[in-house]
Amino acid sequence: MSISDIMYRSDGKSRVTAISIDAKSLVTPTYFPAISSFGVKHRVDSLFDLLVDYSYPRLLISAYDIHSMDTTKRKRLASQIKQYMKQSFVFVDSGRFESWWYKDSGWNFELFSETLKKIEYDFYASLDVFPSFQTRSQGYVDAVLNSIESSRAISSSPGFIAVFHGSTPIELVSIIEKTLEKVKNLSGIIALPERDCGVSIIDKVQTISKIRKLLDKYDDRIIMHILGCGHPKSLALFSFCGADTFDSLDWINSLVDIKRFELTDISYLNFSDCECKFCKNESMIYIERVLLHNLLFYQDFMKSIRESIREDELVSKMKNILGSDMVQRVLAKIRFE
Ligand SMILES: [Zn+2]
Repeated sequence: MSISDIMYRSDGKSRVTAISIDAKSLVTPTYFPAISSFGVKHRVDSLFDLLVDYSYPRLLISAYDIHSMDTTKRKRLASQIKQYMKQSFVFVDSGRFESWWYKDSGWNFELFSETLKKIEYDFYASLDVFPSFQTRSQGYVDAVLNSIESSRAISSSPGFIAVFHGSTPIELVSIIEKTLEKVKNLSGIIALPERDCGVSIIDKVQTISKIRKLLDKYDDRIIMHILGCGHPKSLALFSFCGADTFDSLDWINSLVDIKRFELTDISYLNFSDCECKFCKNESMIYIERVLLHNLLFYQDFMKSIRESIREDELVSKMKNILGSDMVQRVLAKIRFE
């Protein structure tokens, strides 16, 4: 079931892995810019076009948004994806995020499955099951397992991703553990939302470390994807804890402050002192400069994380990004055995 090889291990649980799909290879830790119709001010197709026009090597798109397009737009997107995938990676998520926010109870397994038949992709996520009183009373583990197994049966794609949620970090760790106990070779990739890992950054690094330790017991090549994670400081910390891939909408909704490794308001681009080719190009539309500046940052930043891991320098890189004091405090809270 594994689709990855560990190329290098270093500080903490950090690792560089290579995921191979068909003839393509993706090196981790890496970041997928996500596209969604919910919570952003730009149209899905224009964001998609931007990523394709600049040959950005990865993207995440929602099955719900693809389903919501009219036939002409969807066919155009499907043909663009086919072309784009020759060089780049497409991750389709289940669309539960959008349908939940839109309160669209009509989004179900059948529509999700039908949508996946209309497009190509490298990775696709299982249909999420959110923890609720109802699913708990019916047996949350069984509900999650059913959804993962039905989702896996949709396609023979090796890039199948089993998605987990938990209303608390303890529940999240427990559901992953119980599911892995029940089904061996569940999937080569698991995904979990950053927000379910805890409220504070200490909670989050502890949860992600625990999950890495758990996965390693079964197969250390299992890739851990963190959904909704794009803060540069968190990308460094979670890479240290053994997370491999990340996605978020931050590249659309924020401006990355490259000096402070912070996310800030998009209106501050002219004061960012950034020397990148997009920030310097004042003839470009402002918002396009912001998006491209952010995309370039994520590309370079994740590359620098991978280099730091390969050079056994991740802790010192984290100290540069977060400050020594914070790194010491975080390290004191994580125990790797
Ligand atoms: Zn810039």
